Amino acid sequence: MFEQLIGNDNVKNLLRRMLEAKRLPGAMLFVGEDGIGKKLFALEIAKALNCRSPQGVEGCGKCAACTRISKFNYPQSIDSDDWKRIIWTDHPDVGMVVAPRRVLLVDQMREIEGAANYRPFEGAARVFLVEDADKLNDNSANALLKVLEEPPHTSYLILLTSRPAMLLPTIRSRCQMIRFSPVAAGAIENYLKQNNLADAKNARIQARVARGSIGRALTQDAAKFSDQREAMLKVLKALAGGDDRIQLLRSAEELNEARYKDEYEARLDILETLIRDAWMLSLGVPATNLVNEDLLPHLAQISDKLDRHRPGGWISQIEEMREQLIVNINRKAATDSLFLTMATATGLPPKRRFLIK
Ligand SMILES: [Zn+2]
Repeated sequence: MFEQLIGNDNVKNLLRRMLEAKRLPGAMLFVGEDGIGKKLFALEIAKALNCRSPQGVEGCGKCAACTRISKFNYPQSIDSDDWKRIIWTDHPDVGMVVAPRRVLLVDQMREIEGAANYRPFEGAARVFLVEDADKLNDNSANALLKVLEEPPHTSYLILLTSRPAMLLPTIRSRCQMIRFSPVAAGAIENYLKQNNLADAKNARIQARVARGSIGRALTQDAAKFSDQREAMLKVLKALAGGDDRIQLLRSAEELNEARYKDEYEARLDILETLIRDAWMLSLGVPATNLVNEDLLPHLAQISDKLDRHRPGGWISQIEEMREQLIVNINRKAATDSLFLTMATATGLPPKRRFLIK
């Protein structure tokens, strides 16, 4: 049932209408940030099409067909060659391909083509998911085009991506594109609480730093998060309390340590929420509206010393650097430069003055 998925009500309505009218497109492209629920929606379609006791046009979620569709048979080891094949669910008509490394392979697309040409073994339709469809290269995209051009009427292909611009226009034009929006923080918070995935305090924090992605909210490790936040709080304290440059350079160095490589983006996200919170406090916003409400004593101290003209500039400087990181500048140099630029920035309009080659 779509009802059990979080957020994206307009997508739910659209899919329901298509199912009711029996006009579900044979090829669809689900576009939206990672961890937003695209795959769950795709599986919900597979259930709707194959359910043994459908509720209206939707899957019941309980019958043998629905429960088997929920379970993928992932290969046992990371190096298994089975990653290069269709990964089937427990249902013989529903499967998925994922990129074994950086690209989706021609052979995977040929296997989908072959499988899509069979009539369903058990249910009413065969459904194939292509995860990270932006990882198609020219060759695999061309192999997939063959199926997309004329999908057999009992087979459905659902491509998932967070980077639609990376897909060949020929692929995009043959799929019905469906856009997913970030899920509201309140909805994520409720979900975490209702499913006992976090206590009230952590649910609130996790939901707010998840930036609309339920996947991100679920994978966040609370202990790790609290370490990251402590480190970023030091940065904010150094900035607000007279621009302690030694501390700032030390923090920049820590942020660049290899063991934190995968946390870099998350740490900057957290720094932004802390800056916003201190800023809000200095503007007299009630503490209950803060993301990091539990850090109120620290934030209140910071906001007392804060020149309230500066935080806006800090946030744009962070955002500006993140844009530059996309085009591959040296991250270490950029981080040092960012923190020092933030330290020297006054309340005057920000200048573009990163010392980056
Ligand atoms: Zn069912």
